[in-house]
Amino acid sequence: MDYYRSQISSLIEELGRLPGIGPKSAQRLAFHIINMPKDQVQKLSSTILEARQKVAYCKCCCTLTDGEICPICASEKRDHSTIMVVENSRDLAAYEKTGKYDGVYHVLHGAISPMLGIGPGDIRLKELMERLQGDVKELILATNSSLEGETTAMYITKLVKPTGIKISKIASGVPVGGDLEYIDEVTLLRALEGRVEL
Ligand code: ZN
Repeated sequence: MDYYRSQISSLIEELGRLPGIGPKSAQRLAFHIINMPKDQVQKLSSTILEARQKVAYCKCCCTLTDGEICPICASEKRDHSTIMVVENSRDLAAYEKTGKYDGVYHVLHGAISPMLGIGPGDIRLKELMERLQGDVKELILATNSSLEGETTAMYITKLVKPTGIKISKIASGVPVGGDLEYIDEVTLLRALEGRVEL
């Protein structure tokens, strides 16, 4: 039975599709939205729509950006011969927050997971290998210390090692299974500074 009018039900249903939003949260959000002033709801929905339409992958590092090339790849102040490989744009943001890394990034958008059926072709690895044709001196692996992150790091090491490019991995000060974005800046910096060559 439909307790609410179908409009409310479909709003609850759509909100419930978002990650981390259970049925109760979806209901709470739906009622909150319905009670918001109409102009605020208009602003929220147009912001979501615009973000979705304008944001795309950077042609160079694959992070999310609203231009062809992201501000980091476009910057002359960055060291373009050092590439840090991260799993997602949130990890990139975590390292940017430290303000101490002056290289560039490569965002994989995931990690290899045989369990979930995610293979090397499902993440942005091909793009990384293409970038390595250019002038790259060091590749820093900063994938998460989860099983998937480690598998991905090992896979990349095997591919890159024969090219002679220096390859290193951030130190394991990072808790096992920890998402990089939840780790404080000091720990991130220590992990970066204590990186070990593979
Ligand atoms: Zn970029």
